[in-house]
Amino acid sequence: MSLLKLDNVTIRFGGLVAVDGVDLTVERGEILALIGPNGAGKSTIFNLITGIYAPTEGSISFNGRPISGNKPYHIAAAGIGRTFQNIRLFTELSVLENVLIGAHKLGKWDLAGSIMKLAPWVRKEEGALAEWAIECLKQVDLAHRAYELAVNLPYGEQRRLEIARALALKPDLILLDEPAAGMNPQEKQVLLEMVLKIRAAGITVFLVEHDMKFVMGLSDRIAVLDYGVKIAEGKPEEIRTNPQVIEAYLGK
Ligand code: ADP
Ligand code: MG
Repeated sequence: MSLLKLDNVTIRFGGLVAVDGVDLTVERGEILALIGPNGAGKSTIFNLITGIYAPTEGSISFNGRPISGNKPYHIAAAGIGRTFQNIRLFTELSVLENVLIGAHKLGKWDLAGSIMKLAPWVRKEEGALAEWAIECLKQVDLAHRAYELAVNLPYGEQRRLEIARALALKPDLILLDEPAAGMNPQEKQVLLEMVLKIRAAGITVFLVEHDMKFVMGLSDRIAVLDYGVKIAEGKPEEIRTNPQVIEAYLGK
């Protein structure tokens, strides 16, 4: 059984069909990349998987159970972590607190409430939760930054902090939306090794990324989206040489 399965998933925004009848599976333990031009519907697919949108048609199942239509916090609690295309950190909180927010099983995104509840953990620097948050920071090599304000981290580290926060939920599947965007080549190489480590820790990875060197060097499989339609799927070398993919995306 596939870990995640999209079955004929469609979403319309008014007259625009942003995702159009997409069938897609993510297999346990793989690194799958989703590529395609800007506006192809890649982030919308992540928003559909994580419950930010409900599909107009079709269904999504995770671990064999239907999840489409469920609330984001239920889907997160079921084991799907994510990062966003645009960094979403609490910049005036510490690095550790940002991870604790991910670790906390939020009731209903009562963020203010959970920060209040978390504060004693953070102050005393004790407890299993804080230890776990430090473990997550270690996975992205940021444990030494735990007590700095998130706003003071360089851009590449802020992106890694977002990954740590997603890991804090102990997900089976992590969705990374353009994790290498804005990174320099050295930061990208560090990130690539981290993603491999995350997979080695047993977490399945599904990422959207524009940097083809990064995608080709990392992914087991690649799916290609164009105008909301999945136009190809295969191993990196198959995608690289697929004429339809070159026409729609790689040739540009
Ligand atoms: P990608 O991530 O592949 O660049 P997106 O998934 O962000 O593309 O967007 C796909 C299309 O859906 C775009 O045309 C975008 O403008 C549109 N879209 C996304 N979200 C919404 C929304 N909430 N309302 C209306 N249109 C949207
Ligand atoms: Mg996007």
